[in-house]
Amino acid sequence: MLSETKNRFLGSLKFRLTLLSGCIIALTTLAAFLLLYGHLAHALQANVDHDLAAELSEFQSIYSQGGLEALRREVALEESAKGKSYVFVRMFDTTGAEVVNSDLTYWNSAATKPPANGASGSPVFSTIDLPERRIKARSIYGMLHPDLWVFMGVDAQQNSIVLATYRQRCIEVFAVSLLASLLAAWLIAGRAMRGVRALTTVAEEIAGGDIDRRITTTGYGNEIDRLAWVLNTMMSRIAALIKETKALNDSIAHELRSPLTRIRGMAEMAITSGATLEKHRETAAEVVEACDELLGMVNSMLAISEMEAGVVGLDAKPADLALLVADTCELFQPAAEDRKIVLNTAVAGPAKVMADNSRLQQVVANLLDNALKYTPSGGTINVKLTNEGNEVVLAVEDTGMGICESDIPHIFERFYRTEQSRSTPGNGLGLGLVRGIVNMHGGRVEVKSVTGRGSIFRVCLPCLH
Ligand code: ADP
Repeated sequence: MLSETKNRFLGSLKFRLTLLSGCIIALTTLAAFLLLYGHLAHALQANVDHDLAAELSEFQSIYSQGGLEALRREVALEESAKGKSYVFVRMFDTTGAEVVNSDLTYWNSAATKPPANGASGSPVFSTIDLPERRIKARSIYGMLHPDLWVFMGVDAQQNSIVLATYRQRCIEVFAVSLLASLLAAWLIAGRAMRGVRALTTVAEEIAGGDIDRRITTTGYGNEIDRLAWVLNTMMSRIAALIKETKALNDSIAHELRSPLTRIRGMAEMAITSGATLEKHRETAAEVVEACDELLGMVNSMLAISEMEAGVVGLDAKPADLALLVADTCELFQPAAEDRKIVLNTAVAGPAKVMADNSRLQQVVANLLDNALKYTPSGGTINVKLTNEGNEVVLAVEDTGMGICESDIPHIFERFYRTEQSRSTPGNGLGLGLVRGIVNMHGGRVEVKSVTGRGSIFRVCLPCLH
């Protein structure tokens, strides 16, 4: 449990962000300090070298004015003014014999020999280690005159002290700034993660079943707000889909109940009534009819679902829609006559479209069936087929009961039936099927209706040239 909490803490974005910014700050500060340290060390050494070079040129002018004697006096003066432990001076003639020198008591190891490459002409600077005194000295070896060379050095311990102090201060500043930046990074990361934590809490509540819960945005329009907006939109769509699915399930259950109850009733009657064989046959025929009705409904539901999911393909071929419409109207003519409805067909062919004949026939049949169902006796149905621009338009117009404006957006939904049509047989799947098939053909369905005066359903399909 404890190690789980520890792992969660170490793996948390807040901790990782803090660590990352801490590392970046530490590295940049370290690099800056090292750079400054290098510059400082170089500047200090250049300063000492500059003094040594100035001393050398001073010796040169003294030698040219007063010769060796003057130089000896100057060296003695230097020695007493700066201290024997601070400075040493040695001068050599061309044979390498020492002609002037200061007291070398403190410079045993350093002052015995000049640098090996010191005979080139221009002055040579070097750093000398004096372990017995635990100091470093800086020396110069140069020419005073073609027959006189000087090797001189000064204690550079002061520079080492300055650099050591600088190093110490750097470490202190580095430690304080690292701590401060880690704290700041921790606070900033915590603030940045606050939005994520709020999102997580709401997401957990949604995952727990509260699908109507939404994330409150801060209104700053930042990344978290945008994420919250996307999640809210997604959740609203999911919630709408869930509600739709639930409503659909309720409708299916409701639609199945009546025919199933009817079938059950018939079967029960057949068992208990002791009827004749003839009567049993009649009941069986009724059961078959009720089952066909049910099967038709289930098949329509499946067809709509498959079309919506895009899992069915069309067996589409170039066809003349005029022939198909004329044939289907002919099939409906007897039914129209039975109901004393005039069915007019004005089909101007050819109307070439890519068509899956059986499916488009179903479209025409469903529209005609509806027109007949919802038009009272004495009414008229006009079927027209025209070419309009790049489209073939089939219009089925009736003088029936019409559809009120508020129902029109819903009539293509599965199981939707208007209040006025409840007494007429039907299951509310016909128009869903019509729209699914027409959409698959790349077309669209339009409806215009006036209550009490009739409706026009227009099927517009892309025309084949
Ligand atoms: P069904 O006709 O089986 O009820 P549909 O999906 O074909 O199902 O139609 C859905 C609803 O649209 C119908 O219940 C009816 O209310 C309305 N409707 C469809 N066509 C017409 C029409 N021609 N006239 C009036 N109402 C119609």
